Amino acid sequence: MPLLSLSDYLDKHSSDWLNTAKTLLDGAASTTVRLGVTGLSRSGKTVFITALVHALLEGTGSRSLPVLSTLPGLRAYLEPQPDDDIPRFAYEDHLNTLSGPDRTWPQSTRHISQLRVTLEWDTEAGAVGLLGLKRRLHIDIVDYPGEWLLDLSLLQQDFATWSEATLHSLRNRHDSKAKPFLDFLDELAGKDQHSASTTVSSSSSSQDAEQLAIAGAKQFTKALHAVRDDANTQAILGPGRFLWPGDLADTPQITFFPWSTTQPTSKQDMDDPEKSSSDLYELLKRRYEAYKANVVKPFFEDHFQRIDRQIVLIDALTPLNRGAMAVRDLEDALHTVLQAFRPGRNAWLSFLTGRRIDRIVFAATKADHIHSQQHRTLESILDRIIARANRSADDAGAETRCLALASIRATQDINTETDGVVYHCIKGIPVSGESIAGQTYDGTRDAIIFPGDLPKDVLDVFDPEDTHIGDFDFVRFRPPLHLQNDNETNQAQSWPQIGLGKAVAFLFGDVLK
Ligand code: GDP
Repeated sequence: MPLLSLSDYLDKHSSDWLNTAKTLLDGAASTTVRLGVTGLSRSGKTVFITALVHALLEGTGSRSLPVLSTLPGLRAYLEPQPDDDIPRFAYEDHLNTLSGPDRTWPQSTRHISQLRVTLEWDTEAGAVGLLGLKRRLHIDIVDYPGEWLLDLSLLQQDFATWSEATLHSLRNRHDSKAKPFLDFLDELAGKDQHSASTTVSSSSSSQDAEQLAIAGAKQFTKALHAVRDDANTQAILGPGRFLWPGDLADTPQITFFPWSTTQPTSKQDMDDPEKSSSDLYELLKRRYEAYKANVVKPFFEDHFQRIDRQIVLIDALTPLNRGAMAVRDLEDALHTVLQAFRPGRNAWLSFLTGRRIDRIVFAATKADHIHSQQHRTLESILDRIIARANRSADDAGAETRCLALASIRATQDINTETDGVVYHCIKGIPVSGESIAGQTYDGTRDAIIFPGDLPKDVLDVFDPEDTHIGDFDFVRFRPPLHLQNDNETNQAQSWPQIGLGKAVAFLFGDVLK
């Protein structure tokens, strides 16, 4: 008589209690890890998730994720996401855009989205193995704009404090990016009564207050965008939904602006300081508080609080290219972001940000814009920026790792020699319209580019006097060809990448056993 495995035996003689035990064990063999993917606008979130999911799905035998190669009988598939209230990450669309005939980069992150990838493999360990059940890891990837994390600080500020701090930042900028908004405020304050009369009614009825709130919010939003898009700095001022409104665009939720009580709303109001901060001030204050209660808090409670592991994508090369001021702006933005991950002794913040994220990867993205000889230096610089940004000595104990990352590597290393000097260059196809050293590319031809060297001493990147930084040559490259199955080795292949395998090993290594 042929021997039956225990699993077959159970299937054949399935008494109720054994089935129940099997179901329970099946559940116990499954782990869910919620991975937060964040970073400021254009830091590379969409490209990262698409490349990560593709590498996981093609992971059986793929070279890009060595950590998966030890898992016997590995199978990976997409499953319906657990949260019905979050839009699905448009994986298939992004994949088509990247690997279609035009090979272009996909549409960037605009709002929160989610995707579930499940990995399943054989195990011999414990009762799960004995019963022939599979180990299962559900990875719930949650993509959200890093700008939204900046709103955490609003929860500790009332309207007056936030207004003062925001107006101070806007007024202290060296450029004129925020000038139209500041002029609007001055006009509102009645400093220029003549021009003010064209837009500001002397009546302070609630209808006027609403019109002023709309006009001011528009100017304020423009100012925040102008500051963010400034070519010389990397400053990010919130609230985050003014930069990435998601589904809040044009709603009253984001129809407010910072307003100081010392600024009366009209000539009539100036004669009556009590009244000056009446209708408009009350409306703005109410909207600000509603934004905190209805937008910021739910995001942290419903989404952020449930994240287990996090990857923060940082386009560090752009601020390095812009100079020390931009590096400091990045450091400031990261300081605010880190507060969300490391609530430390602040019990109130801990309550809101929930259980602690236990592993965080900080990744310097688009590392394929420099030669691989420079990747160690890039990681050291990022490490230093993170250490400085993490000003509080109060570390909540998450394990962290800094990496140089190119989710999709669009270039190759090339060494060239001129007069006996070796230059570490990169080769790729610049996106049509990109130009460098006076030459404009048409999107079909290869180019070999010497992007410049990162400073050897990482401290130089913070030194405004240092002239070594800020002189790289970066262009955008087209995504590379998507490699198909390697027939000789029968190995599934994905895009070339840098650091993706290390990131996955660090984020999931402990649960891939
Ligand atoms: P998001 O706003 O954070 O979602 O940013 P995206 O993922 O849309 O990336 C913004 C842009 O950065 C893309 O359109 C690409 O031009 C570039 N990019 C992102 N990741 C990579 C990468 O791995 N390599 C290269 N060369 N460029 C990248």
